[in-house]
Amino acid sequence: HDVKYYEVRRPCRIMVLVNPQSGRGQALQLFSGQIEPMLTEASVPYTLVITEHQNHARDLVRETDLSQWDALVILSGDGLLFEVLNGLLEREDWEEAIQTPLGILPGGSGNALAASVHHYTKSPPAWGKELLLSCGFLLCKGLVTQLDLVSVHLASSQRIFSFLSLAWGFVADVDIESEKYRLVGPMRFLVGTLMRLASLKVYQGRLAYLPAPPFTPQNSSLCSSLPCGPNSSPNQNSRHNHITNSNHSTNSNHNIAHNSSNIAITTMRTEPQPVNQKGPPDSLLADLEQPVPDHWTVVNEEDFVLVLAMFQSHLAEDLFAAPGAAADDGFIHLLYVRAGISRLALLTLFMAMEKGGHLAIGCPHLVYERVKAFRLEPLSPEGAITVDGEMVEYGPVQAQVHEGIARLISG
Ligand code: ADP
Ligand code: MG
Repeated sequence: HDVKYYEVRRPCRIMVLVNPQSGRGQALQLFSGQIEPMLTEASVPYTLVITEHQNHARDLVRETDLSQWDALVILSGDGLLFEVLNGLLEREDWEEAIQTPLGILPGGSGNALAASVHHYTKSPPAWGKELLLSCGFLLCKGLVTQLDLVSVHLASSQRIFSFLSLAWGFVADVDIESEKYRLVGPMRFLVGTLMRLASLKVYQGRLAYLPAPPFTPQNSSLCSSLPCGPNSSPNQNSRHNHITNSNHSTNSNHNIAHNSSNIAITTMRTEPQPVNQKGPPDSLLADLEQPVPDHWTVVNEEDFVLVLAMFQSHLAEDLFAAPGAAADDGFIHLLYVRAGISRLALLTLFMAMEKGGHLAIGCPHLVYERVKAFRLEPLSPEGAITVDGEMVEYGPVQAQVHEGIARLISG
């Protein structure tokens, strides 16, 4: 998978958003202790924004003048980036706004994107402070790639955007239940997995998907780097022009449609949000009330232990769930585990997942498909679905990938 990069303009101006409550509540100390000295050393000017409540970052990026910023950087878990992405896609100028380079620094208990970005550099696995320093280094280096986003439709016709994962069954329950072990940091998933294994459940539902076309070298990505050439002045070419240009010059084969869709986007939070028409239209999806299109594959089983759709390589720092995934491969990596698996076999799967070996152990209950879109209709009246680790409305959901529409500081 050949990734091209572009550079952030230097000196670049970055907004660093920190959730002081994330992880063990030490994100601010991580910033002043580890990241601030790196940014100072690299002469990267930054503005620190400390979030005060949930959706603070989402509201801020929805309203802010983005021309002031060359990159938005999140020091938290995946939840804060989820807010920022959805805020950007709620703007009138979403098409340009979503091209703002985004950086991730692991400060939460779920740092899956940071672990994925680190993995994409082909470096040996890193955790904790080492992972933070690796991501800090990538930020100072300022290379940018494209990032796939997945639009997720919920039962109440809300649409949200996801960069990481959608989970139902075992993984979603672990995600939610392990919130109370937040104080153990990233270990919370391990603790949660062991607890859930003890009370293993079967989840009833229907699953269908649109298989991805067979892989060709054509599918390989195109990218560039943050607008930080050592000689460029801050007033030269706005970042967005730079990125737009590099985009055009590399023959992007995905078109961001200009016509507005009729699909409502609101937030996944429980409080009602204004319905808007922003974001790319979902050309692959039928109405959630209608049957899936004829050419989709409908899974025969209706009894599952888990369904997990991955959009990046890592589900957590130590869960390498989609070994073949890249930031902008244009695929949804769909995994499901059929009912009937023993506790021991499931534990073995999760242990193998730490090194990404779960697909190779020949587990007859595990299925893996690369898809472009999918639909999941849970039949059990109650349960949990998570998107990027955050609980969303429970009920039928469907999703499709939008290849490379966002920008990620990576490299
Ligand atoms: P963690 O990985 O520790 O869960 P996240 O970044 O995922 O860290 O944040 C957890 C939740 O906290 C997210 O839903 C996020 O939107 C929310 N949040 C962001 N800022 C704050 C804040 N200042 N106080 C409380 N919650 C916040
Ligand atoms: Mg989180």
